[in-house]
Amino acid sequence: MAFKRKGQLEKLEKKVFLATATMHGDELKYIKEAYDTNWMTTVGKNIDEVERIASEKLGCGYAVGLSSGTAALHMAVKLAGEELYGKPKVGHGALEGRKAFCTDMTFDASVNPIVYEGGEPVFIDTEYDTWNMDPEALKKAFEIYPEVKLVMLANLYGTPAKLREIKDICDSHGAILIEDAAESFGATYKGVQTGTFGKYNCISFNGNKIITGSSGGLLITDSRYAAEKVRKWSTQSREAAPWYQHEELGYNYRMSNVIAGVIRGQLPFLEEHIAQKKAIYERYKEGFKDLPVAMNPYDPDTCEPNFWLSCMIVDKDAMCRQVRSDKEALYISETGKSCPTEILDAILSVNAEGRPIWKPMHMQPIYRLNAFITRDGDGRARSNAYIDGGVNDVGADIFDRGLCLPSDNKMTAEEQKIVIEVVRACFE
Ligand SMILES: *Cc1c(COP(=O)(O)O)cnc(C)c1O
Repeated sequence: MAFKRKGQLEKLEKKVFLATATMHGDELKYIKEAYDTNWMTTVGKNIDEVERIASEKLGCGYAVGLSSGTAALHMAVKLAGEELYGKPKVGHGALEGRKAFCTDMTFDASVNPIVYEGGEPVFIDTEYDTWNMDPEALKKAFEIYPEVKLVMLANLYGTPAKLREIKDICDSHGAILIEDAAESFGATYKGVQTGTFGKYNCISFNGNKIITGSSGGLLITDSRYAAEKVRKWSTQSREAAPWYQHEELGYNYRMSNVIAGVIRGQLPFLEEHIAQKKAIYERYKEGFKDLPVAMNPYDPDTCEPNFWLSCMIVDKDAMCRQVRSDKEALYISETGKSCPTEILDAILSVNAEGRPIWKPMHMQPIYRLNAFITRDGDGRARSNAYIDGGVNDVGADIFDRGLCLPSDNKMTAEEQKIVIEVVRACFE
């Protein structure tokens, strides 16, 4: 549907994307170094340097370079599963048949690794305070399923969850925490870097993340045993022998030394990227201050996000009618009101790119039979929050009323002004 509220809004000459790579030049230098020294493989100086710099930056014991954030999460789940339940027989997952508590409103890459290892995700509802896992719902989940020993927590859009509280809840139940910090590299909680609160953690260098290698990821841990295991597993589990000797299942998950060159060139710019992203967030906040909307929230007293994506949420009483089926959305324009579908259309009409909020996992057809725990619900699975009006489903509500705004750190203040204007026009 074309956005047609206002005829003469200015359009962007060059498309502004949601979030793309911002290169600085040294990336090429390190790629060339890999080429010139012929380390065109999964070993080399670039990988060593990425691991060294990242572990120093994060203040963790070990960072292991892998092919993606998803690979890092898979290795994290496998480590936790073997620790909790022992080594599985070949052909069986490390979590086989076991439940694990997971962030509900997130990218499916957070959750799928639980399933790769035969586990069953139980989704924990979201809180309005941070748009992350609700500690109250997590407590409730442990009451319902006291046998669960694994929690997979994501920090959405670069805003830390209530990490101390969640870690304490996990500790009091003897559960292992995995922190999916794929989106929150450089964000801190009470002065401590995200990606270090879990026993095993993940950072992603996927093409639209705040620091990118085009792809790539890190497994973060303080455990030397775990780091060595993942180095071994990720390079096909070779034993120390003159031939290819295998005692364990192997994976081809190691980071490429060429991609590590890109990441090595990017790493010094993390703080600069965060500052640019923060400025974008602040400009939106200022530009929308008299609209019936709010930005994705954080508590400045406890955390400093990396502001990877700026998001907004429309006040309940300023929502026009919007319905979404599995694959389509419709809305009816109304004076003084709007909705994410209309706002996304409007943003597109000026040549910029937004995106809906991550659709919660409990609303995804693939996970429709999995349990979903809200802070005051009954723990039963529901594929659509609106079927049962009695449950306070925070994730479904944020998905309904929220959206991600163009957040590319190369967007200028002038370009952003055009985006702000068109969003404002939606509420006229
Ligand atoms: C990007 C992302 C991942 C996966 O990282 P890849 O490097 O793309 O595999 C995992 N979890 C979240 C929350 C992400 O945003």
